[in-house]
Amino acid sequence: MRVRLRNPERVETLPGPLTVAEVLDRLDVPAHTVLVIHDGQLVTAGHELGDDAEIEIRPVISGGAGSSPRCVQCRAPAVIEEPRHRSAWCPDHFVDHVTMQVRKAIDHPPLADPHERMFHYGDRLLVAVSGGKDSLALWDVLLGLGYDVDGLYVGLGIGGYSRRSQEICEGFAEARGVRLHVVSLAETYGYTTPSGSAAAGRSTCGVCGLSKRYAFNKVAVDEGYDVVVTGHNLDDEAATLLGNVLRWQDDFLARQRPVLPATGTNQVRKVKPLYRLSEREMAAYCVVRGIDYVVEECPLVDGNTGHELKAALDALEAGAPGTKAQFLFGFLDRHAAKWSDDAPGAEPLELAACTTCGMPTTVEVCAFCRQRERILAALPLFEGASDDAAAAADAPAADAPA
Ligand code: AMP
Ligand code: ZN
Ligand code: ZN
Repeated sequence: MRVRLRNPERVETLPGPLTVAEVLDRLDVPAHTVLVIHDGQLVTAGHELGDDAEIEIRPVISGGAGSSPRCVQCRAPAVIEEPRHRSAWCPDHFVDHVTMQVRKAIDHPPLADPHERMFHYGDRLLVAVSGGKDSLALWDVLLGLGYDVDGLYVGLGIGGYSRRSQEICEGFAEARGVRLHVVSLAETYGYTTPSGSAAAGRSTCGVCGLSKRYAFNKVAVDEGYDVVVTGHNLDDEAATLLGNVLRWQDDFLARQRPVLPATGTNQVRKVKPLYRLSEREMAAYCVVRGIDYVVEECPLVDGNTGHELKAALDALEAGAPGTKAQFLFGFLDRHAAKWSDDAPGAEPLELAACTTCGMPTTVEVCAFCRQRERILAALPLFEGASDDAAAAADAPAADAPA
């Protein structure tokens, strides 16, 4: 069906039949902010719309152009506007909005059967926290929803940046009386991101990503957690999707989803409950909730193509709010099923225990153990270089918390 939306003007196509309530839900439009018009008649939530229906969703709350915006829930002065949702909120209702989006992701993840949730109230959750806005906001929301959720910070040894990030995570956990696991790459595995990257001759982001993913799963397995939760947001996922599409990486496309089930022993389910929320919404959530987070970026990311993909999507989003969400959700709703069934990378992997560490792998020795072995063999030659990199990262950033 064709759905015309106003302020800003755009048209969405959805497969029917759907009720009016389902259409509004799909498009994230709060029902009380709009009128729905079908064949010149007003229709209500339960009205059924066929696949060939043409409807208009017309906003009824004014105050966009020029005047100061008001909260769509209570009409109090708004502190944040989100063109994608054609909405604005007061602080309390903005917190409700973020919480609702996380709930929706947990209760009805895409590509799951209708009754499958990301996780349940009885599950023990481990949220990977970097000290940045997304993962700390996520921990806060999950605690607010009453989930049993501990944190994990992985110390990457990137000088002062890592130290400040760890302090922020520890401060968050202490203030709320919740448990934070800390794993230091240097202490546990004998290398840091800068020294490992120099020794392995691999990009810092490559060494860092593999080490983090390994540590998340390893801690979850050793400590008996059911699910690993990460703070990947809508912008992260849309940029990853764009990158995978540009290179037609079928195997990555097949695995790009907000729920990755555990497929073998010593492998823990992974979920991304922030995939419906933008970077900007998460930053705003932290400000509204008074959550202290590391604003500085990792000093080692240069050349990371993710930033260019995000910039390209931001340019599109500025001209047509909702583009990113349409791109990502459209893929998850319709196309990902095709990749998951047909793609070359989508066959269930035959996993065996790594002969070195026991974690799941498709070969004899897992990628992490192979990388670590290479790093430790070459490390003595690179000690000097890695000290320089750490020292460079040590310079306090301009916006570092005091
Ligand atoms: P990034 O790969 O830096 O975009 O981070 C994606 C997600 O990975 C974050 O939202 C966190 O959940 C997690 N994460 C990143 N860095 C760390 C870290 N040093 N320790 C624990 N979790 C992390
Ligand atoms: Zn309000
Ligand atoms: Zn291994």
